[in-house]
Amino acid sequence: MNIPSVSGDEKAVGFFLRDYLESLGWTVELQAVSENQNNVIAYLNDTPRVFLSTHLDTVPPFIAPTEDEEKIYGRGACDAKGIIASQIIAAENLRKEGINDIGLLYTVEEETSSIGAKAANKHPLAAKCEYLINGEPTDNDLAIGSKGTFRLKILTEGKAAHSAYPEMGESAIEKLIDILQDVLKTEFPNDEFFGETTVNIGTIEGGIALNVIPPRAEAGIAVRLTTPRNTIETLLEEIVEDRGKIEVLSCSEPIKMLAVEGFNQKTVRFTTDIPYLTNWGKPLLLGAGSILVAHTKDEFVLKKDLETAVELYVNLVKKLLTTK
Ligand SMILES: [Zn+2]
Repeated sequence: MNIPSVSGDEKAVGFFLRDYLESLGWTVELQAVSENQNNVIAYLNDTPRVFLSTHLDTVPPFIAPTEDEEKIYGRGACDAKGIIASQIIAAENLRKEGINDIGLLYTVEEETSSIGAKAANKHPLAAKCEYLINGEPTDNDLAIGSKGTFRLKILTEGKAAHSAYPEMGESAIEKLIDILQDVLKTEFPNDEFFGETTVNIGTIEGGIALNVIPPRAEAGIAVRLTTPRNTIETLLEEIVEDRGKIEVLSCSEPIKMLAVEGFNQKTVRFTTDIPYLTNWGKPLLLGAGSILVAHTKDEFVLKKDLETAVELYVNLVKKLLTTK
């Protein structure tokens, strides 16, 4: 946590982890993702069947760590440096019991583009991996589903004119407001398993000046998906019709993860690297800390939750390795 690692600046923390894991006797590969970014992949033998995994980067700004008896505070406390620490301790504990079919995978840039995960998905070790236990703050519950995220823009065009002669122009902002009102009125389909589909109109831009009929406007929208993207995209197209255009920015579909008996289970609303790590076997998701404090200035993790996570990871790995 002392090494700044905001997305795009993960080089130093990657070198630190490589050196640390090598000092423990792991075989460590740095997988180059860009000039300044490497995924860290570590293993003990030729047949790693279960990988513990999370991301190396944090959201900005860097907040130096502090601690008291109970908690660790600062950027990355729960998202995701605390998780990395608990996974390494779990892996070391498994190793002490003679369990060596395990690996560690730490990716760059999960918080923005998942380019690290996309690169990792092409790594040859992926084919050997049967189960990928990804770590994100799930309050130590086993997340069995996560909503998807569909990011898009709605763009409208009009015709500029002097505002004193509105009949000479056509307002792109008025068109956009009409569309957005229809979006807000629309009931999007929900899903019994994943829950409610929610829509956030996050940005709105347009116009030139107060005395000009605006020729262009746009709104940025994030939909938390509980159904396949197509359903939602079709609905949005029907709303917009020929009043504007939809520009898709990115999309990750809702994902179901492996449920394992004996663990508290729930669905989560955030997205992870998992949709981009499809070659790494069946995905699971579990980590210490709360997503509600991640990305905030008050980010923290309870030390006892990290200790609990170690036990949970150990038990989970053992259970998976004995599953056939
Ligand atoms: Zn995270």
